Amino acid sequence: AVKLEEKQEEINSQNEELMSQRDELENNNHMLVEQKQQILEQHEELEKHRNQLESLVEERTHELLLAKEKAEESDRLKSSFLANLSHEIRTPLNAILGFSSLLGEKDITDEERAEYNRIVQGSSGTLLELINDILDISKIEAGQLELDLHEVSLDALLSDQVVVFDMLLKRDDIGLNKDMAFKLSIDNDIRDITIVTDSVRLNQVLSNLLNNAVKFTREGYIELGCRKLPDAEMLEFYVRDTGIGIREENQQMVFERFRKVEEDKERLHRGTGLGLAISNQLVNLMGGSMHLTSKVGEGSVFYFTIPLIRSNASLIQVSSRQKEFNGIDLSGVKIVVAEDDAANFNYIERLLRKTKAIVYHAETGRQVLDILNREKDIRLILMDIKMPEMDGIEALHALRKLNFTMPVIAQTAYALADEVVKLKREGFDEYISKPIQQDLLFAILASYFKQS
Ligand code: ADP
Repeated sequence: AVKLEEKQEEINSQNEELMSQRDELENNNHMLVEQKQQILEQHEELEKHRNQLESLVEERTHELLLAKEKAEESDRLKSSFLANLSHEIRTPLNAILGFSSLLGEKDITDEERAEYNRIVQGSSGTLLELINDILDISKIEAGQLELDLHEVSLDALLSDQVVVFDMLLKRDDIGLNKDMAFKLSIDNDIRDITIVTDSVRLNQVLSNLLNNAVKFTREGYIELGCRKLPDAEMLEFYVRDTGIGIREENQQMVFERFRKVEEDKERLHRGTGLGLAISNQLVNLMGGSMHLTSKVGEGSVFYFTIPLIRSNASLIQVSSRQKEFNGIDLSGVKIVVAEDDAANFNYIERLLRKTKAIVYHAETGRQVLDILNREKDIRLILMDIKMPEMDGIEALHALRKLNFTMPVIAQTAYALADEVVKLKREGFDEYISKPIQQDLLFAILASYFKQS
């Protein structure tokens, strides 16, 4: 019995051990299941990350492709811009080179000489226009063009366009033999107001549109109008012509640079194809927009808006310049021409000789002051800006300090439109850009020396 009891005990203790081993095993099993679960979860997580990475890579690749396409596109645009540019520069340049060499030949008739001369003049004008346009558009596209806001009389600004129109009609590359009327319509509720705007840029847009209107119209009229939009503080300007019109499918494209429609088979129109691109961007910069309506054979209307900022100040700009300025007589009037370039001086002196003015030549700012101290009654100074020793701006400040009050007109090759604003701010009374146009010079002189 004792043996049996012992056996029983042994079995019991073995049993207990087994039980505890079983517990342990169960525990272990539990842990393993948990670990497996964890591993599964981690695996899932990893899978998720992998998927995310894959789609990220896909996305980035797509973005890179787009960027590459964009870069290639802008490269193409740049190349075609340059190709266009080179063509536009070569065309007038070839004409200048060709016809000026013909001018040197001995056996040409007077008519031929006049004709060649006209072509050289016209092509030089085209080239100059192109250079100004390119400078403007580069500045705009580089975001470097800043507006210069100031107060202007809206009436004066609009009626000044009459002078622009007259000049356009006289230009033989645009307005040859045209009998066209000009209408100006200003809505009554904006008459006699002074607005705050960049008048140089606004004038540039208006004269671009007028230029086109005259260029593409043979007969009829051109109308320039302005009104306040009924439901916004915006001014709307329009230039209407009775010209050749623009087909519907070309109406958007004319605002792109270097685009010309070439519809008119009878006449080849001069132009850079930049005018509307510049005008459109200028208007956008001013906070407005431009659009057109047109019917082939009936005419076109170009509309654009700018914000209407009213000013209460009194009119600061007197009305437009005299219209008739040919044959101005300045006998005995003493004028100083400050110009360090002999050829330029020669040209200006020739122009002034027609007015019978007495011309004094200064080659530096210092010499201008010398002449002023030596000669009495100098009535006007045409001042070059870039001169050795003392430049035009310094000379202007110096002579004003010495209490000389005669008008001083800046003449410079810096032809960027915002340069004008800068020079006016320096205190110049007027601005004329080189090469000096005879009509413009006489118009300015006429406004200072009213003819009896
Ligand atoms: P361009 O210097 O050639 O006139 P623009 O950008 O000013 O350049 O005009 C682009 C083109 O739009 C012109 O070549 C012409 O085909 C067309 N266009 C512009 N204005 C008019 C208009 N008033 N009537 C008819 N066509 C016009």
